[in-house]
Amino acid sequence: MDNLAQIKIPPWHQSTEFLTSCPQLYVESVIKGHPQPGGLDSARGKEVHQTGAAYVAYCALERVSLDLAKFDELAAGAGPLAARILAGMRDSYEVDFTHVLATELTLSLDEHFLPTQVTDAIKGTCVDTGEEPVTVGTLDALYAFPVEATMRIDDLKTHPKPFEPGDKLQAKTYALLAFMHWQWVEKVIFRLIFVRYRKVTREVTFTRDQIPDLIAAVKAGRERQIKIHADYEAGNKIEAIAGSHCWYCPLLSNLKCPIAQYNENMQLTMTQRLNFNLWYAQFSRKNNQVMRAYVQERGRGIVLKDYNGKAYVYDHVEVESEVYPVFKFIDQRMELRDGVNPTLPIIDLLIDYAAGNPDDSEWMKNVVVSSTPLRRYLKTNKRSFLDQAVEDAVVKVPKSPIRVSKPLDAVPEAEFDDDEEFEDEEEL
Ligand code: SF4
Repeated sequence: MDNLAQIKIPPWHQSTEFLTSCPQLYVESVIKGHPQPGGLDSARGKEVHQTGAAYVAYCALERVSLDLAKFDELAAGAGPLAARILAGMRDSYEVDFTHVLATELTLSLDEHFLPTQVTDAIKGTCVDTGEEPVTVGTLDALYAFPVEATMRIDDLKTHPKPFEPGDKLQAKTYALLAFMHWQWVEKVIFRLIFVRYRKVTREVTFTRDQIPDLIAAVKAGRERQIKIHADYEAGNKIEAIAGSHCWYCPLLSNLKCPIAQYNENMQLTMTQRLNFNLWYAQFSRKNNQVMRAYVQERGRGIVLKDYNGKAYVYDHVEVESEVYPVFKFIDQRMELRDGVNPTLPIIDLLIDYAAGNPDDSEWMKNVVVSSTPLRRYLKTNKRSFLDQAVEDAVVKVPKSPIRVSKPLDAVPEAEFDDDEEFEDEEEL
């Protein structure tokens, strides 16, 4: 390993957090430079980011908040996969063109967390130390609100399931990048835009007084990275830690993971897992049917005792679920509180509370009637008018459950056109 002492430690980047999740993955991908699987998904992610950034730049230049024709043009140029993923963003994404400062902007900090390698796009707005970059981030879109001493960073995500940005080091790193470049910034909003869905965003806000915490978080990440390099150069054993990052590991695809024996991600292929899922679902249904019939017929539960003396019982269990009625009924008649308007037991309480606590009523927007029980009563001919009226008032909530499809005659195009089943590298 003599020549390895010269390996330069690359700057901390958004993907470094992900790669250092398993030191072996980092060694294989970064130090040895072996290509990671998932190239197609990675390319798709880049297209989505580039399309989003190009669109924001276009809107800022033309001073428009949206231009669907241009969006379609850019998305079509990015390819069908990216275009399909961007569908949710298309109709709902409005660009705050008056506050766009830059798109696809790379910001770098040196080892003292001071701006370095300042790009032309922001030259003159901060001092460039000219030192080696140690922490680097590329912001999809940066918005400046000088009156509020605030900046907002928008980051596009293609993940099927939205998540909160607060726990990710990316949010802290990007906020730190903005604070250290512009001294006037007191607040940074880091916002994730989940482009598959209409108006699905998650954000976290940082204030200038949090800079020490942000530096500590970024430093800790950098120290992990440096330690992996040091261990590798010293010839120490490199640890392997399994997780969702395994899908991007060259040692997963060539079956050389040092903990292959215990790594749950290596025990079955994904198609074997789906096969097992289908078999298990069928088996479980049948198995439960037989047990239910037995309990019903014999009137007693099924008991299993394990070798530790613990018992498991399959039997009817009496439980009480709680519901909150919308109306009040007495003798089959809806109670009216003033002869005309019905009594709304729970709603009336909420209204009273909101009237007395106007600062604590925002949460009530989450109080809703679930569609499943309501639909059951509306889907009849005699209530079709009411059904339509309710349908017009419905609020669609984006959800992204993962489920097995019904049997299909053909595999849908696009995301399943190769054998890889990895997440988008840009998104990690
Ligand atoms: S496959 Fe093994 S070496 Fe690769 S990331 Fe997973 S645990 Fe680490």
